[in-house]
Amino acid sequence: MQQFIDVVLPIPLEKLFTYAISQEEAEFLRPGMRVAVPFGKSKIYTALVHHLHASPPLAYDPKEIHQILGEQPLVNSIQLQHWHWIAKYYMCTLGEVFRSAVPSAFLLESETLILKNDRVAVDEMNLKDDEFLIYEALQHQSSLKVHEVSAIVERKNVLPILNRLIEKNVILLKEELYEQYKPKLVRFVKLADAHTSEKDLENLLQSLTRAPKQSQVILSLFQLNASQEKPIKVTELERASGGSKAVIKSLVDKGVLEEYFIRTDRVTYDDGQGGHEVKTLNPYQEEALTAIKNSFESEKVTLLRGVTSSGKTEVYVKLIEQCISRGKQALYLLPEIALTTQLIGRLQEYFGAKVSVYHSKYSIQERVEVWNNVLENKQKAQVVIGARSALFLPFLHLGLIIIDEEHEGSFKQFDPAPRYHARDAAIVLGNLHKANVLLGSATPSIESFYNVAKGKYGYAEITRRYGDVVMPDIELVDIKEQTRKKRMKGHFSERLMEEITTTLEEGLQVILFQNRRGYAPIVECTTCGHSPQCPNCDVSLTYHQYRKQLRCHYCGYHMALQESCQACGSPTLDTKGFGTEQVEQEIGQLFPDAKVGRMDLDTTRGKHGYEKIITAFEQQELDILVGTQMLTKGLDFRNVNLVGIMNADSLLNFPDYRAHERAFQLLTQVAGRAGRTKKRGKVIIQSYNPYHQILKQVSTHSYDEMFKEQLYEREQYKYPPINKIIKITLKHKEYNKLNEAAEWFSKSLRNVFGGSVLGPEYPPVARIRNQYLKNIIVKINQDQSLPKTKNSIRRIEKSFKSISFYRSVRVIYNVDHI
Ligand code: ADP
Ligand code: ZN
Ligand code: ZN
Repeated sequence: MQQFIDVVLPIPLEKLFTYAISQEEAEFLRPGMRVAVPFGKSKIYTALVHHLHASPPLAYDPKEIHQILGEQPLVNSIQLQHWHWIAKYYMCTLGEVFRSAVPSAFLLESETLILKNDRVAVDEMNLKDDEFLIYEALQHQSSLKVHEVSAIVERKNVLPILNRLIEKNVILLKEELYEQYKPKLVRFVKLADAHTSEKDLENLLQSLTRAPKQSQVILSLFQLNASQEKPIKVTELERASGGSKAVIKSLVDKGVLEEYFIRTDRVTYDDGQGGHEVKTLNPYQEEALTAIKNSFESEKVTLLRGVTSSGKTEVYVKLIEQCISRGKQALYLLPEIALTTQLIGRLQEYFGAKVSVYHSKYSIQERVEVWNNVLENKQKAQVVIGARSALFLPFLHLGLIIIDEEHEGSFKQFDPAPRYHARDAAIVLGNLHKANVLLGSATPSIESFYNVAKGKYGYAEITRRYGDVVMPDIELVDIKEQTRKKRMKGHFSERLMEEITTTLEEGLQVILFQNRRGYAPIVECTTCGHSPQCPNCDVSLTYHQYRKQLRCHYCGYHMALQESCQACGSPTLDTKGFGTEQVEQEIGQLFPDAKVGRMDLDTTRGKHGYEKIITAFEQQELDILVGTQMLTKGLDFRNVNLVGIMNADSLLNFPDYRAHERAFQLLTQVAGRAGRTKKRGKVIIQSYNPYHQILKQVSTHSYDEMFKEQLYEREQYKYPPINKIIKITLKHKEYNKLNEAAEWFSKSLRNVFGGSVLGPEYPPVARIRNQYLKNIIVKINQDQSLPKTKNSIRRIEKSFKSISFYRSVRVIYNVDHI
């Protein structure tokens, strides 16, 4: 009897696709295995076997598969169930989930670009003949497509060869280009050879008599050389001489000093010993742990609310210990890659080589390795830390999922589909595995706390900081008044200046928070009022002083800053608003002796971008760290005593029903970085509106009050967690077509759902990358069926797409988190 398989293709197809297989293949194939299949006129894809059967498709003649890839399933049945849930719940296709769930090395296809890997020396002897042919071709051509490879080796099915070449590190796939491994490089200085003799040196110092700062640097370098054998870091020289980077740089430019780099690997794991004594919990932690275990007994998802620095991580460690001692795998999800840096170290102390890390900044090879380790349930992958994509690893025996900082918005994936929320998807995964699920936060999301209030989730809390450190003292400063009285220095109030001064005098560190990167979000001509806009998006260009550039934060467009107004030619340009770059510059001028660093999207590119800054701050090479919300999340710095929030207002005035909740969480979290060890920390919040309810609640640590108030508002306006909500975004490059389409779509929705439909409305940035956007929101009552609602929406989309004029309009769904 003819056998068939239904496969998932990694493209947005609504249905599974059927292929014919031989009897022999049928005996070998199992769900979750990969096959190379032809699709369309000439494409080849890697597809995933969904199931085998004996009924031919009615609508088309099934093609045969090209080849089976791999001996074992790549994906297990629990994963497939999980993917089905995600596709259904978040209104996307199984193919889209497949594509985003597995590392792209497993998804070779005819369009994949293949490059040679320059980073490793290839042992040609080690290559088979066909492999060598490809290797050789890549010496002459910078990249190859799969069909070109086929031509070279005169064979149709080349994916297995390519897979072998990836494993042998001979080739790379195109998309890897931007994430090549960059080891941490430390800058060192020495005297240039021409100046090392005593005589030369005398001459040199003579020549520098007019440049006292420079000669000070030279003298300090000598002292350092005399007192230590080891090479001298640039940062060391800066500190010893009191000279700035600029002074050292000018000496380098003159050829007096030479810079050189030494590679240092920061992530040196103490070869997997681990086995540090787990810390003894204090009574509050102990109590929380017991409450969590009891709640797990009754198979409930459990929320741990513990104030910042209460020692939640140590409680997690106990749970992980217990989980792996029962032979099960543990997954620890974090919202931000930056956090994994600190956590790896902490967890490895206890669990050594059992800890693996998985996130998008890892190279394909590294991701494939972790994937395989988890699949084979290796010792190395008993504990996996990761950002949201770690959720898709092929766990077999998951015993525990921890979702730390569960309130964080970055758990939601916005683009591309699946537009899932990792916390919610993790809870479903936990269910499928019958694993325990713990959510942790100092500032739980309204929906999670609501679930506790309703009794759906279990609950535990820690209300004190570890070591009985008092919660930081939070002071609100009215910058409107300060500005009126002319008491501001740049963007710094008197109070903030005073506190920075004392903190630095005490040898403690400062964090300054401003939720915007760049120098200023708007450049404006004072003569005619013109301000440069992005040509592709409806948004002003942000000024980045460091590169003298205007940049768009939505599409990446950039141009050089013009000397004069492009509209009227007047040279009087001014900036409005301020970002981290400006804060960094001002603080450098106000406190010229302090070492200032900056942590935002611009300074943390590359795999090790975060590590460099976090390490420098941890090791007190920096006194002050300026940053965006990136530095608010869960980082544990021992020596920070002051946190300054430059301007809280932009957080509060965001047009979004979650804005107040988010502002509370963000401010409480940043504040929580202050005074984590001994001394009580200090927080200064600058605002034009210091009497705002949310700021009061932050300064008095009143989570419960915030929760009550926000919940009341959500009830009033029918927002989550009371109602469910789906946002439908329509997208097209023609303004008129989009408007018409949005009218059509919303009218059809209203016919079914009446008053629960809002919009269509333009979002705050109504055009991005030359595509206009319009949003429609559907609110869904608690007694209304969510699956039925989604089906109705899908039906409307189908009729919509059947109108040829609208076919090119993109329809994007965001469920729950919009
Ligand atoms: P949270 O995650 O709640 O903000 P952390 O887990 O980072 O707090 O703990 C704050 C600090 O207190 C950490 O530096 C941690 O090492 C320390 N700490 C917490 N619990 C203990 C304990 N039981 N024994 C010793 N140190 C602890
Ligand atoms: Zn002008
Ligand atoms: Zn743009």
